[in-house]
Amino acid sequence: MVYLTGAGPGDIELLTVKALRVIREADVIIYDRLANPEILEEAKDGCEFIYVGKEDSHHTLPQEEINEVIYQASQQYETVVRLKGGDPFVFGRGGEEGIHLRERGAAFAFIPGVTSAIAVPEYAGIPVTHRGITVSFRVVTGHESTKAQSQIPWENYRTDDTIVFLMGLHRLETITRKLIEIGKPADFPIAVISRGTRPDQQTVIGTLSDIYDRAKDLPTPALIVVGEVVKLRDQLGWFEQ
Ligand code: SAH
Repeated sequence: MVYLTGAGPGDIELLTVKALRVIREADVIIYDRLANPEILEEAKDGCEFIYVGKEDSHHTLPQEEINEVIYQASQQYETVVRLKGGDPFVFGRGGEEGIHLRERGAAFAFIPGVTSAIAVPEYAGIPVTHRGITVSFRVVTGHESTKAQSQIPWENYRTDDTIVFLMGLHRLETITRKLIEIGKPADFPIAVISRGTRPDQQTVIGTLSDIYDRAKDLPTPALIVVGEVVKLRDQLGWFEQ
């Protein structure tokens, strides 16, 4: 059995009870950049570990190879845990891994994880929705904007949705410029949260025009929150105090 498992955003106590159970039962754990590697210490004696990515996201194994590593493990071991940061379906490629296993007839289950997209802003005192401020939020990849043919439909971002950008720190300058280009005010609130839910979490608040200078050197992983909800941190900040 392969458990495609969410490891949560970092704080080890945000691991689900179900994830913790399969991690303790696993014969092999296949993992990549985890927000909290201490989770692996929960594995039983003799559990094998297969690392399929490096800190630097540019040097991860190609997804096809990861899919095959997981499948091969399923043929060799009884209980396989494929551990991923946050939730497997939120930019986690869990769907692709499931399809690969299904095509080969290997049994799998998904174990949802607490996604950084919601939990990290929460640890910074920023609610992704708030009555009277915003009724919706969207989670998008900032990474796409590196490509010449960006698939981010910038024109759609004129809405009042809270926008959470994952994988966007390296594109922070482009993201803020694009948002101003489509008509957001230069003084619109934005936050960058680095190493969220970890003891060394850092949050930097700013505006679309000044956040790049203030936040560009923060350590990864980091995410970006754009929206009026950012201002609620004044009243709701709690974790970094
Ligand atoms: N499946 C994951 C997201 C994978 S994409 C989830 O549901 O959380 C990886 C991106 O998530 C990073 O580039 C960063 O933007 C964000 N991220 C993950 N953990 C984070 C953390 N502890 N603090 C800040 N951002 C984080």
